[in-house]
Amino acid sequence: MRIKIPTMRIRHLPENLINQIAAGEVLERPAAAIKEMCENSLDAGASQIDVRIEDGGKSLIMIDDNGCGMAREDLVAALERHATSKLPDDDLLNIRYLGFRGEALPSIAAVSRMMINTHDQDSGDSWSIRINGGVKENPIPCAHPKGTHIEVRDIFYATPARLKFQKSARSEYMAIKDTLLRLALAHHDVGFSLTHEGKKAFSYPAVLEPQSRLSDVLGKEFGKNIMPIEVEREGITLTGYAGLPTYHRANAQQQYLFVNGRPVKDKLLNGCVRAAYADVLARDRHAVMALFLNVPPTLVDVNVHPAKTEVRFQDPQLIRSMIISSLKHAIHEHGTHVSTAVSTSAIDKLGRSAPMRSHSGSYYSATPSNYSPATQHISNSAEQQNHLAETAFDTFAPAQMSWSDNIAPSARAEAPPTAAIQDQQPVQISEQDTHFPLGAARAQIHENYIISQTQNGMIVVDQHAAHERLVYEKFKKQIQESGIIKQGMLTPEIIELEESETIRLLDYQEHLAEMGLEIESFGPSAISVQAIPALLGDKPKISKLIQDLASEITERATAQGLEERLNAILSTMACHGSIRSGRRMNVEEMNALLRQMEETPLSGQCNHGRPTYVTLTLSDIETLFGRK
Ligand code: ADP
Ligand code: MG
Repeated sequence: MRIKIPTMRIRHLPENLINQIAAGEVLERPAAAIKEMCENSLDAGASQIDVRIEDGGKSLIMIDDNGCGMAREDLVAALERHATSKLPDDDLLNIRYLGFRGEALPSIAAVSRMMINTHDQDSGDSWSIRINGGVKENPIPCAHPKGTHIEVRDIFYATPARLKFQKSARSEYMAIKDTLLRLALAHHDVGFSLTHEGKKAFSYPAVLEPQSRLSDVLGKEFGKNIMPIEVEREGITLTGYAGLPTYHRANAQQQYLFVNGRPVKDKLLNGCVRAAYADVLARDRHAVMALFLNVPPTLVDVNVHPAKTEVRFQDPQLIRSMIISSLKHAIHEHGTHVSTAVSTSAIDKLGRSAPMRSHSGSYYSATPSNYSPATQHISNSAEQQNHLAETAFDTFAPAQMSWSDNIAPSARAEAPPTAAIQDQQPVQISEQDTHFPLGAARAQIHENYIISQTQNGMIVVDQHAAHERLVYEKFKKQIQESGIIKQGMLTPEIIELEESETIRLLDYQEHLAEMGLEIESFGPSAISVQAIPALLGDKPKISKLIQDLASEITERATAQGLEERLNAILSTMACHGSIRSGRRMNVEEMNALLRQMEETPLSGQCNHGRPTYVTLTLSDIETLFGRK
């Protein structure tokens, strides 16, 4: 039996259905509708945009702007598909406005109950129009003083399928807030406010400087811990601010990129940031930044995605290299700085534990006789200095020299011959030294922290973290200049490893050799070490180094770039080549370390992004003691 198939006829979809389909594409959620409408306000030249929402925007969105408004016929046309005032010369390649598709308003109107009141700047007339589920009423005159007021009620009521997939009011609210923050960052000269269920979520006044808006939106702390970015290449400019490496976050949410004033969510930025901060940030921490890219409209395609959050650059490689190199440059320029957040949190912590009491219940007195044994060498008295020098000699005489080799030659020249240390006069610290940015070393405590006095306060340096960075930067310099200087082993050292680790290490044999570490296969589960980088000093623990490298390589096996992996290897080697915590240092050594830190790029953080020093200004200290 033959089944009769009904003839299929092509028909044109009714306009309202097209609008509903488009709404499904462009408007995933209330936040997307708000973004479109705010962009319209910006295109209309508004300098103030106020958004009020109820129920995460699901039941009500109200937007007020003070832009140019619309004339009666434009108001009617604006609600028709592909009607736009913004593509005057039909050139899709040359898009200067935020909107250009002429589909946002009709799409929103097709799925909600909308009302628009608008004051036409040119004629001085005001008009109001209602449109429910895409069904338009005639505009009527109204009394609206300035700009445009749009109300969107019950968004998606006309598309039940979409309505069902709406998220909670809270998550919609969060998305709306994020959307508006991005717009506010991109347009500092426009005031923005958001009110949710009668409560003001934020209100940012229009400001002259982009930096003030950044501080408003990303926090005052960010404002204090930023590095300005400004480059221009082939008509493309990149400006903005990036956070110091020691100012980081647990996720990448605070990395904002704007292309020609549009907030863009592009993986491009993510990759660039990773590459630029690879050396100075732990893998699970993320930098904070807002970057503004201005590209001639003909060199960028914003028409890739209906919501316009993706862009396509004609020359993505150029953009990528601009972002990476300018970030790297800024990191190097500011690399010796440490985020103020570090001192602030240090003060918070200190503040919480102070004041301390001794066991007897009395407060510690400042006189040395009352010091507990554990704090005995916190002093700059001549006697204490001498004691320091002596213990330095006793505990690490041979290694000390190899370490000094890594420190400034001038320090070595000034350092007393080890045998003469006992007769050495107490070290006089000249007041001049406190003029150095990192001040004059006064003491070492707990065999790891250097206390240094500066002009207006004090600094605590983590000697291991600091030296690790110095060694790492030296490695990188050697690689750039003439290759890493090697030191051959008299007898090759044999290191036993897991078979898989052996294979993995040998995969890197050539790269390791370039880094001064020569290894060879020695049976299935061992390698022999022929040479090591000279910077590692006399007696590095080679087996521990090799084991750490093997696990580093395994861990990074999936990391993207070879460069990133090689840097990780270098960083592991630097860690092994640096003074350990637990090593006593004399004053010259400490000062030599401080002077080197001042000259070394990126010395404000160790290779894992931890700060290498914390500053406490006198006024911080006075605050701690309640003097202020
Ligand atoms: P597009 O922004 O792509 O042009 P829309 O559908 O978003 O398309 O808007 C259609 C038109 O409505 C705009 O081109 C503009 O002329 C007008 N319009 C929309 N919102 C406003 C507003 N707040 N102020 C002035 N004109 C507006
Ligand atoms: Mg628009």
